This record gives sequence, structure tokens and C-alpha cells, in this order.
Amino acid sequence: MTEPSHWSRLDEDAARRREERRLAAMRARERRRIYIVIALAMLVLAALVGLLWPRDGNAAVPGRGALAIPLVAALFHPAAPAGPTGPPSHKPVPILMYHVIHSPPAGVRYPALYVPPAEFVAQVAALKRAGYHGVTLDQVRSAWSKGTPLPPKPIVLSFDDGYRSQYAKAMPELRRVAWPGELNLQIDLPPSQGGLTPSAVRAMMAAGWEVDAHTITHPDLTTLAAAALQREVAGSRRIIQRRFGAPVNWFCYPAGRYDPTVEAAVKRAGFVGATTTLPGWATRSDDPYRLPRVRVDGGTSPDALLGEIASERAAAPPSPSFGGAGGA
Ligand SMILES: [Zn+2]
Repeated sequence: MTEPSHWSRLDEDAARRREERRLAAMRARERRRIYIVIALAMLVLAALVGLLWPRDGNAAVPGRGALAIPLVAALFHPAAPAGPTGPPSHKPVPILMYHVIHSPPAGVRYPALYVPPAEFVAQVAALKRAGYHGVTLDQVRSAWSKGTPLPPKPIVLSFDDGYRSQYAKAMPELRRVAWPGELNLQIDLPPSQGGLTPSAVRAMMAAGWEVDAHTITHPDLTTLAAAALQREVAGSRRIIQRRFGAPVNWFCYPAGRYDPTVEAAVKRAGFVGATTTLPGWATRSDDPYRLPRVRVDGGTSPDALLGEIASERAAAPPSPSFGGAGGA
């Protein structure tokens, strides 16, 4: 046996180094695979926590709509539902009031109730640019009562009566920015009169919308006898609960009309609060059965809307009754 020559030793060294490099690369690849698996597991866990955590601890079931919120929204939504995190929030929240998302037909009785789709898109973009982030009333209530997180500038977008355009125009735009809507559904508004089909309501719930009651026939509740009042208030809640499996925690007064008798009927029916048509921001110190809203009329430019929201912050709390004329 001869000593390996200098050159063959160098060859062996080179081969050994190559082998070491190959093993090191293999180990690095293996580590990367493990990191990726851990990262994916954490994402799945975060998604499950975000999706399954009840949106309202007082509700018996988690909001069904929450289960279908897109994964990305559930992971990165700053208002993702969470457990108690601290002292109750005192943050006031503007609640916008919309009706039809469509250009007003010629000669229509209340043209101000029509916001054209392009105007709505521009308003949502302006709200987003101004730092607002859409939330639901249940999320606001949970923040006020239990300190669950709200985005820095929360805002609720509510839609009265239940028009097809709210499904066809408002829902896709809000879904694009991962914001929920608040649907104040009147039972007796059939698709033949511009109302929503049950499957449209279900699609809105699946997009994270909350469904609230707005009576069966949209009467002036302050004029009704006890039995009719109960049928319109408690009855509409039961119908929506049965038909859509929604908790229906909130009520919305038709044409904004209410008085202490109507308010008592809303409380008795199990609602946690109600929205009016009176101007202002909803605050924790308000009577939750008289939450004010910011009315959005057709023809409101994005800047005018931001101005209205800002100026209505100083409005006085709604009075114990309201029976003014007009509105829907
Ligand atoms: Zn209405």
C-alpha cells in the first residue's frame, strides 16, 4: 500500500467537503419544511379561534355569519372577535343609515332614500381612507360591555327595510373591503316589490351581515294597540329567528317612530337595543333602545358624508319619544 499522494488527498478532502455541504443543504431544507409546517399549523389555529369564538358572549350561539367570513378577513380583521380583554370600551360609534342603493327612478316619492351604487362605492372608499372600519352592532355592544377589541375608528353601516339592491350592490362592495353590514329586515317586503329573497338574506349573513328586525308591515308603532304592537315587534323577531337562525339582537323603529310604550315592547321581546332615525353617534351612556344614526341621503358626496359624520358627533341624545313625519 502506498501513501495516498498529495493530489488524491486533496481530492478526498474535496469530496468530503462536497458531501458535508450536501448534508448541510439537506438539513436546511428539512428545517425549512418544519418551519413551514409550524407556520401553517399556527395559521389554521388562528383561523379556528377567529371563526369559532362567539361574537357575543351573551348570545347562546356564535353568529352563524361569522363562520363564513373569508379566511383572510378572520385572520387580519382588527375587530376579530376575542374574549374579554380589559375594561369596557367607551368609544362612541357612528351608525350610518342607508335605504335603496340605486339611482332614484323618475318621479319617485322619496328620492333622498336612493343612493346610486357609484356614490355608495365612493363613500365606502372615503370612509376607508379616513380610517373607518365597518363593524356590527353586536361587536360594538361586546366592546362596550366586555372590552372586546374594536378597530380604532369603528363604524356601522345599516340598511333599512331589505331591498334587493342592498344584496346586489351594497353587499359585494362591503365584502370587497371585508366589512359587515347591518340589515334591518321588514318581513312583508316581497321580492316582487323590490324586497330580498330568503336566499339573498342568507348570502348576506354568510358575508358577515347581522340581521335585525324592522317589524312585519312597517307600521307607525306609536299608533298600535297592545296586541298588534307585540305582533309587529316580538313577532318579526321570531319569524327571522325561525327562518334564518339568526340571534336578532337589535330592532329598528319603522320611520323612526317610538315612545315609551313601544320601547317597552322592544325590551319585552328580548332585543338588546334599537336604532332610531335621530342624528348622532351611538354612545355607551345612551339608552341602548334609542341609538341615533347618521342618515345618508342620495346625492351626498364622500366629503359631505365625512363632514356629516363628524358634525353629528356632538348631537344631543335622542328624546324618550319620536313621532315626526316622513322617512322610511
Ligand atoms: Zn324602514
